[in-house]
Amino acid sequence: MRRIDCHVHLVGDGSSGSGCRFRTPNLLRYLAARYLVRTTGLPASILQGGLDEAYVAQLLSLVKASSIDAAVLLAMDMPRSDDGQILEEKANFYVPNDRVLELAAKHDEFIPACSIHPGRPDSMEELEKCIAGGAKVMKLLPNCHNVNCSDSNFRPFWERMAKGGMVFLAHTGGEYTIPVLNKEYADPRVLRLPVECGVITIAAHAAGRSGLIDSDYTGELIKMFADFSNLFADNSALATLNRWRTIKKLLPPEVCSRVLHGSDFPVPSGGFGPWVGRQLKWKDFRTISRESNTIERDALLKTAIGFPDETFTRLDGLLPS
Ligand SMILES: [Zn+2]
Repeated sequence: MRRIDCHVHLVGDGSSGSGCRFRTPNLLRYLAARYLVRTTGLPASILQGGLDEAYVAQLLSLVKASSIDAAVLLAMDMPRSDDGQILEEKANFYVPNDRVLELAAKHDEFIPACSIHPGRPDSMEELEKCIAGGAKVMKLLPNCHNVNCSDSNFRPFWERMAKGGMVFLAHTGGEYTIPVLNKEYADPRVLRLPVECGVITIAAHAAGRSGLIDSDYTGELIKMFADFSNLFADNSALATLNRWRTIKKLLPPEVCSRVLHGSDFPVPSGGFGPWVGRQLKWKDFRTISRESNTIERDALLKTAIGFPDETFTRLDGLLPS
C-alpha cells in the first residue's frame, strides 16, 4: 500500500499555457499568497511570473524527498450561481482538469483529482472525460463553489461517480482562504445524497471549525459514520493554530478508522496549535519544526500526534484501479 497525502493543491498562473489562473484582488490576499508561496520553499518573487512550472517542480521534489509515495493533486473548478452561471469574481484561483490529468500522466507521484461543479451544463460530459483521462478523485468545496450536493438533479452525476469508483473529496467546515458563497454547505449533512448513491466520500478537515467563531460539525460527521461505511474524513490542515481542536475528536480508534492523511499543502503546517493543545510533546514539536519539507513535516506531525500508519495507506485501498 502506498502512503498517500490525499489533499494537495495545485496552483499556477498560466505562464506555461496551463490554463491555470490565480489572482490577488486586494493587498490582504496578495500578502496571504506571498506567505503561502514562501511555505512551499519558492521565493515570493515567483508571483511576478513563472509560477506554473516552478510550483510543479518544487512540489514534485518535496514529495520525492518525503516519506509520502503519492499526493492527490487537486484541480479547482469555478464557483457558479444557483442558475449555473460562472461567478468569475468569486474565484481566487482556477486549475483546469486537463492540467492535473496531464501532470499525473507524467509523474507517478501525482494522483489526479478533477473538480467539476455538478451544476455545469456540461458536467456529465466533463465527468466522462475525466474518468477516461484517469481521474481517481473529484474535489469540490461545496460552500465556496456553491454546490448543494443533495440537490436531486445531481443524482445521475453521483451515480456515475459511484459506478466509476471515483472518490469524492469535499471540503467541510468553515473556510477563510477563499470566498464562501453559501455557509450552509459547510455542513457534512449536505453530502448525504452522494453518500447514499454509494460514492466513497471524504469530508475534508473532518468538518471542524476553521477559527473560533464558525460552526463545528465534526460531531455530526461522526454520527453519519454510523450510517455510512463509505464516508471518511481527512485530517488536512489540522496541525495548524486555527484547526488543532478538531484532532482530539478524531483519535479514538472507532473514529480514526475513518481518517485519511492529508496536508492541505501549501497551507503551512507548523504544529504550534497541537503543542498548545497538549497533543504534541515539546521535544517532538522542536525536532519536527526543523524539517523544512512541508509535506514531510505535516506527515511527521500527524504521526507524533498519534495518527496511526493506516491513516496514510487507507486511501490506496479505496481508489479505483
Ligand atoms: Zn484544501
